[in-house]
Amino acid sequence: MGYDVPNIEDLYACLSCGYCNSVCPTYGQVGWESRTPRGVIYYLKQLSQKNVFDTILRRGVKLDSQSAERLRECVFMCTSCGMCEEVCHVDIEFIEFWEDIKEWVIKTVGKTESQKKMYDRIKEFKNPFGEPAETRGAWLPEDIKLSETPEVIFFGGCTESYRMQKLAQASVKIMDKAGVELNILGEKEWCCGSPLLRLGQGDIVKSEFMAHNIKMVEETGAKTVVTACAGCFNTIKNDYPKVLGKLDIEVLHLSEYTKRLLDSGALKVNNPISQKVTYHDPCHLGRHAKVFEAPRDVINSLGAELVEMRRHGAEACCCGSGAGVKAAYKDMALDIGVGRVEEAVETGAELIISPCPFCVLNLNQAAEKAGLKIKTVDLVQIALGAL
Ligand code: SF4
Ligand code: SF4
Repeated sequence: MGYDVPNIEDLYACLSCGYCNSVCPTYGQVGWESRTPRGVIYYLKQLSQKNVFDTILRRGVKLDSQSAERLRECVFMCTSCGMCEEVCHVDIEFIEFWEDIKEWVIKTVGKTESQKKMYDRIKEFKNPFGEPAETRGAWLPEDIKLSETPEVIFFGGCTESYRMQKLAQASVKIMDKAGVELNILGEKEWCCGSPLLRLGQGDIVKSEFMAHNIKMVEETGAKTVVTACAGCFNTIKNDYPKVLGKLDIEVLHLSEYTKRLLDSGALKVNNPISQKVTYHDPCHLGRHAKVFEAPRDVINSLGAELVEMRRHGAEACCCGSGAGVKAAYKDMALDIGVGRVEEAVETGAELIISPCPFCVLNLNQAAEKAGLKIKTVDLVQIALGAL
């Protein structure tokens, strides 16, 4: 009689301790148990085990249109930050859990208009903005020499290709300074698929996008893919092999590659930074992909004084904008961001550095909302100025 809810063993593993609630940024803003990992688990468990006694006792364990809408909101308010996975003491793998549950909710209760729109745009245009494929590589600075036999393909990603081109430009300039033989995929590059995977709509990503992007890289002969977007990096590095098997190419975040170039002496710091800075770990680079040290090492090499926020590394707080939350719940995303910016201000830092375009945008907008003067810059921008 119950619903065929996925991850059933996780639902029964939960001990209802509530550790996850205390660290959930969504709960921190909304304050409702129903929006927490424990609350959603409890509800799904009730749904999955609905039986004749629920009917006799008139317990409302059913997915009518009203409760379906509520469940949708509970699930899609999650930023996929992964903090619940970090603290859960029965080791529920929440990063995958939320993706499975989101997929199930979409199959069971349908997509919202905006989810459908994003899916359709990515399917048709290969980017979530509905921009033409032909202009995807238009950000490339004219003075960057591309190699016909590249060692590295720089994967720009949708946001840096169409909305934050300065970050893509800074990335290739850094590699160019080091004399890296590089190229880009241009219009052959498709969305990495992260926006759909995180929102439970990953079917076309798994069946088409992953194989396409890897094939395009392989055709260039490059053995390394470098991206400056935390979302693209985590998706290509960690999600692609789950579907395609082990990749024959190395996948690096630009912070890792910059560290390698600095360590080898290919890059030199000519204009050291004298500022006191703090570092915000993007969830997709830090907790999801376990890259904590490389960006910090780069910041230290640039000469900056790095001071850590109270919550950093594996325990860093989300900026608030992940998994479509920025688009669907803008105020909440900004309010989570305000908390993070306030934490940065407490350190006495003059600047926040983060290697993710989404974190940079949300933290800057949050600072503006709260009237805080501190700015957030992408690691590539600050690195380019110092090299
Ligand atoms: S992933 Fe983050 S936002 Fe989502 S439920 Fe877990 S702690 Fe909350
Ligand atoms: S931390 Fe894990 S066991 Fe505890 S309530 Fe959350 S999901 Fe359940």
